[in-house]
Amino acid sequence: MKKIEEFLVQQSYPPLDLKAVFFDMDGVLFDSMPFHAKAWTRTMKNNGFDYTEYDVYLNEGRTGESTINELFLRHRGRMATPEERQAMYAEKGRYFESYGEVKPVKYALELLQKIQAQGLDIYIVTGSAQRSLLNTLHHHFGSIFEREKMVTAFDVKHGKPHPEPYLMALKKAKIEPWQAVVIENAPLGIRSSVDAGIFTIAVNTGILQDKILLEAGAHVVFPSMHDLLTQWNIIYD
Ligand code: MG
Repeated sequence: MKKIEEFLVQQSYPPLDLKAVFFDMDGVLFDSMPFHAKAWTRTMKNNGFDYTEYDVYLNEGRTGESTINELFLRHRGRMATPEERQAMYAEKGRYFESYGEVKPVKYALELLQKIQAQGLDIYIVTGSAQRSLLNTLHHHFGSIFEREKMVTAFDVKHGKPHPEPYLMALKKAKIEPWQAVVIENAPLGIRSSVDAGIFTIAVNTGILQDKILLEAGAHVVFPSMHDLLTQWNIIYD
């Protein structure tokens, strides 16, 4: 029995009837996390906060607003003002853009093509509000993604780890949790997906240990996108 079928039984869900695969974007489709890590740590340092690259990976998936507010609450005992938030997020965005073009994660395109050929719907569910990244999708992945098959930071009130982004993707796709699988790389994204009731595949493209992804609730962890591509048949064929 496939892991996903075990999951369906455990959840008392109906038998396997997969309709869609929901892809997180940063760290799954784009190898953008090193840029995000550098941009956030530099911005935080400029604003007097101590924030490591490891912190960036642990908090990946949070909206920029939430990341900044958390830090203000922890270190200054209050939320950031809208002006402070906008200034810091803009600063982070400027650093990010200055590092040049983000490359796709190797083998992501091949996996997308395989999934598309299986007749499954493909959605993007991201906490990102980087307009440049959204525009870059088309450039690297061609016509695989459609504008209406995306949930971004602009669509949700609560970012990951809240389940809202994945619940909204289910709603947009007009399907139930047992008809989707999620591909994530980050602990907060995994929590969001698991809390939305969806079978969650982690692909560890970053600097965190597998253990952290499993503790977040991932149902299976692959060490790389190449491994996920070559073993996709153990998920779905
Ligand atoms: Mg990610």
